[in-house]
Amino acid sequence: MRPDPAAAPETEPAPVENSNAIALGLIGDEWNLAIARLAIQDGVRRYKDFRDRLGIANSVLTVRLRRLTEAGVFTMAQYSDAPRRYEYILTERGRDLWKVLLTIWSWEAVWVTEHIEPLPPMRHAGCGQAFSPVMHCLTCGKPAGIHDVRQTFGPSGGFERSVPRATTRRRSAGGSPGPGLVPQTIELIGNRWSASAIAATFLGARRFTDMLAMMGAPPTIVSDRLRKFCQMGVLETVPAKAGSGRVEYRLTDKGRAFFPHVMVMLEWGDRWFRAPEGPASLYTHAACGGEFHPVLYCSVCVRELHGSLVQVGDDPPKTDI
Ligand SMILES: [Zn+2]
Ligand SMILES: [Zn+2]
Repeated sequence: MRPDPAAAPETEPAPVENSNAIALGLIGDEWNLAIARLAIQDGVRRYKDFRDRLGIANSVLTVRLRRLTEAGVFTMAQYSDAPRRYEYILTERGRDLWKVLLTIWSWEAVWVTEHIEPLPPMRHAGCGQAFSPVMHCLTCGKPAGIHDVRQTFGPSGGFERSVPRATTRRRSAGGSPGPGLVPQTIELIGNRWSASAIAATFLGARRFTDMLAMMGAPPTIVSDRLRKFCQMGVLETVPAKAGSGRVEYRLTDKGRAFFPHVMVMLEWGDRWFRAPEGPASLYTHAACGGEFHPVLYCSVCVRELHGSLVQVGDDPPKTDI
């Protein structure tokens, strides 16, 4: 197998991760997503149940549960003395991940066809219809997208601090690649170079040289990520200037549709992991001129979504969210 350049070893000293990087690091791991999904959707709490439901190796599950607990997604509560056993209880921070899971699942269901098994439909109990989440602006209540949300870095911002230094997923190091539930999401955000390449395109980088400068990555890694994103249909190439022979990279509809997921994910990070010096990023909604925070609406009845009213398949969620 060809080594994955995105998992290349890093030698430079690590800058302090901001909330963007922390969120990307936690959410860009498919096992973490699968564990959070079972906890939120099916109310799973016990190690054995996670293991049996996911078919996950003990070593992999142990590392993920420890990491999610350290990150405050779960708290541990003892339920048995002999042998001593603990349950993993979702915290408010953990329950708040429902929005992240919803946008990931919705994007994969619409744009990705390679799933091992089809993703179940999602139903909004508020109107009883199969729906998809639509991102609106909290300030003005209107729909918003990549075309009218402007980003600047905040006090803890900067590109270097916004991408995770390390992820638990390292395919070339024999790491567990994940259950294959949301494969393209993980391709886009599952390691630091992918995450930084997709961030660069969302921040407006169009040319190879812009990407190179923004990402601070070796040229082979940048070109590898661009090629992969084009193969996935997230980016497309267009001629830069007639006769120049150079190309620019543009987001496709599929690529633009990933934007709400990224916004919801970074908002979750900012809510729960904001650095003492302030937010990592500041967003403005160009349409209303106000501060932008994403809020999800039902595509059918156009009302705000709440986790407790989102059903996957025919089952209501088992936890109170
Ligand atoms: Zn607005
Ligand atoms: Zn609805």
